Amino acid sequence: MTKLEVVFLGTSSATPTKGRNLPAVAIRREGEVVLMDCGEGTQKSFVEYGLGINKEMVIAITHLHGDHVNGLLGLLQTMSMSQRGKTLTIVGPEGLFRWVKTSMEMLQIGLLFDLQFVAARPGVVLRREAYRLRCARAKHSVDAWSYVFEETPRPGVFDSNRAVALGVPEGRKWSTLQHGRSVTVDGRTIRPSEVLGPRRDGRRVGYSGDTRPTATLARFFSGVDLLIFDSTFAARDAERAADRMHSTSVEAAELAKKAHVKRLALTHFSARYRSVSALVREAKKTFPESFAASDGMFVDVPAKGQ
Ligand SMILES: [Zn+2]
Ligand SMILES: [Zn+2]
Repeated sequence: MTKLEVVFLGTSSATPTKGRNLPAVAIRREGEVVLMDCGEGTQKSFVEYGLGINKEMVIAITHLHGDHVNGLLGLLQTMSMSQRGKTLTIVGPEGLFRWVKTSMEMLQIGLLFDLQFVAARPGVVLRREAYRLRCARAKHSVDAWSYVFEETPRPGVFDSNRAVALGVPEGRKWSTLQHGRSVTVDGRTIRPSEVLGPRRDGRRVGYSGDTRPTATLARFFSGVDLLIFDSTFAARDAERAADRMHSTSVEAAELAKKAHVKRLALTHFSARYRSVSALVREAKKTFPESFAASDGMFVDVPAKGQ
């Protein structure tokens, strides 16, 4: 089964700390990378953690706050200097594209590769062969979006005995059925559902960006294998979290519980906490499968039933 892993490149909020860089998370699947947010210094983390910047890549930006986008221009320039030829797709709020284009014009940055911009909107925003990217509105002090990376579902397991029993000869017709299309045998139509088990859903990873917890997001992240959620503040600073349109680790845990996710990664920690162990402890009381993300952490998203 293909390896799917999440690499945390930056887990601080607005300002970096000694051990935490600005927000960026890479989802890596078989040589392809989906980068969620691109805080300052992200390109350096790519080198540090051996991600490789010339991969098939999509960059999804949640919102236009400096801590989430300031690394973008540097990353694009380095990609170009590394002779990238592959088109790069960037998903994000409309204003992002204006900002990138204007900055590139002013700094006279010419890229060797094409940029494709996709505006964030509710629903599926991007489809690739192996995965798709979904988007939902977050609730923050500016226009902000949350994302779900989901692998393309696979057809159910093929029952060869059943195919033989139905008189389907081994070969091309088996392959057609395995790909979900009907075949005709002696004038009789055999449907894929007659020889395939239930469809196997792909793995899903959710990323909130900066947000308050909302009912929309609880629905949006329903059942994801790994949820990466804004945990800027500790419960004792709940008022501040509400003021600044962020979440506490407990609010993140409550949402994770409501959404029946499998695991919760807390991230985007305020620099005011030297240690985040209290934030994790509080979250675990509500949702035991909580953990604190840290820079350089690789998290495997295990395969579901084969
Ligand atoms: Zn932020
Ligand atoms: Zn923000």
